[in-house]
Amino acid sequence: MPATSMEELVSLCKRRGFIFQGSEIYGGLQGFYDYGPLGVELKNNIKAAWWRSNVYERDDMEGLDASIIMHRQVLRHSGHEATFSDPMVDNKKTNKRYRLDHLVKDQKADVVAKVAEGIGADAGNFPAVIAALNANPAQASEALRAAGVRDPFSGEVGEWTEPKPFNMMFKTTIGPVADDDSYGYLRPETAQGIFTNFKNVVDSTSRRLPFGIAQIGKAFRNEITPRNFIFRVRELEQMEIEFFCAPGTDEEWHQHWLDKRLAWWEAQGVPRSKIEILDVPKEDLAHYSKRTYDLMYDYPTLGHEEIEGIANRSDYDLGSHTKNQADLGLVAKVDENLDSIAKLTIPHPDTNKPVVPFVIEPSAGVDRALLAVLSEAFTKETLDNGNERIVLKLKPHLAPIKVAVIPLARNKPELVDLARRIKSELQGLGLGRILLEDSGNIGKAYRRHDEVGTPYCVTVDFDTVGKGEDAALTDTVTVRDRDTLAQERVKIADLSAHLQGKLR
Ligand code: ATP
Repeated sequence: MPATSMEELVSLCKRRGFIFQGSEIYGGLQGFYDYGPLGVELKNNIKAAWWRSNVYERDDMEGLDASIIMHRQVLRHSGHEATFSDPMVDNKKTNKRYRLDHLVKDQKADVVAKVAEGIGADAGNFPAVIAALNANPAQASEALRAAGVRDPFSGEVGEWTEPKPFNMMFKTTIGPVADDDSYGYLRPETAQGIFTNFKNVVDSTSRRLPFGIAQIGKAFRNEITPRNFIFRVRELEQMEIEFFCAPGTDEEWHQHWLDKRLAWWEAQGVPRSKIEILDVPKEDLAHYSKRTYDLMYDYPTLGHEEIEGIANRSDYDLGSHTKNQADLGLVAKVDENLDSIAKLTIPHPDTNKPVVPFVIEPSAGVDRALLAVLSEAFTKETLDNGNERIVLKLKPHLAPIKVAVIPLARNKPELVDLARRIKSELQGLGLGRILLEDSGNIGKAYRRHDEVGTPYCVTVDFDTVGKGEDAALTDTVTVRDRDTLAQERVKIADLSAHLQGKLR
């Protein structure tokens, strides 16, 4: 049974060293989290699984790692300066600030219905209610008050300001000067680095349509109300693909990526049955999107929320950067038919004429992926002896620690030295992290490794070194299986091959 509440996951993450609050010793910084010793391993394993599947196992993909701080012009012409904002309202009584849609969504159903009535929108169409509030700011504050919208902080009906857009990009000065021309933005999505490098990649790899560019990296969004642990943070990490194809083939590729991405989630232990596909309504689409499927995972406590967006970005971004570079005199003027040499075009596969390709973008959040993977793996079991155990049934390729090697007693050098030698040999197999666990308490070690999802524990005991009761067990160790709890005796000489077979 997967986790039933977010609290269970938060508590496990803190207790076992997966995730900590950012800047915790100074009181913490809202919307920022640090990944601890096990969190960093799990995160790296998720990213590696994504890269393997989307780059190495395909023949039509290249990788990229672009810089985080971008030229202001890039994010102006991508449309982010003008439109990458969320509506914000303040409660004048408490001075608390909220994202409008989150505030309304969290109210009781009858209050939401009254808001809809007050602003003249259909209560059954939530995006339309928010759109109407945004479009009529003067009536919106009265509609919120009259409907009795409560402030989650005080629990009382608020005195709400008019909603106004809040741009979520983090701005930063570049170099020692601080005038209007010397600032840039921390990218709010990794995508723009792919678009601005499109021509570099095409020219250096001789790629032809269709092909994609994949990137994993940090993105920054000054969310109005970061919340729900690592679900909504201000510093996040994304795994994004921009897949370039000829106009007219985009819908087919959109379907291809939807199928591929659902299969990938399944392979990470996030089953199809827990993901709903939302065909995003027109009024809710981002400024660049022709059509978007949001994959909505059923998170504990939160319910269905977006884990990945798969957007058909049409020719919006490359088209916009091409046009704007031409307007700025940076490339040759582009004519209507794109027959002249425009910068961000590629030969059409049929006509060989330059064309701005269409783009399909599967964009998944690493933090939200980690939360879903943890949530699915989290299991509480009652053992035959009546004891309860928590076990993370992670897929072995995602487990932060692959094998723990445990000497039965920490003060017996012959056991500890042999365990260290075994650890070192297993480490050399390149399976991931192998841990020497010499805390000296086997019961506690097993409990800890169940909770952090270590698939196998290898125990070196007195029989192993020929000082036990059974001479036949000399040079063998116990291998314990996390999920079945089965324990088998394996010859040290066979151990590498044995574990390799199970973990590969
Ligand atoms: P939401 O509607 O939840 O704010 P979004 O539609 O703005 O998400 P996208 O712009 O499509 O999200 O970003 C792609 C992916 O990046 C999302 O599916 C999500 O996994 C991740 N993501 C976006 N914003 C955040 C955030 N603030 N914290 C953590 N992950 C995020």
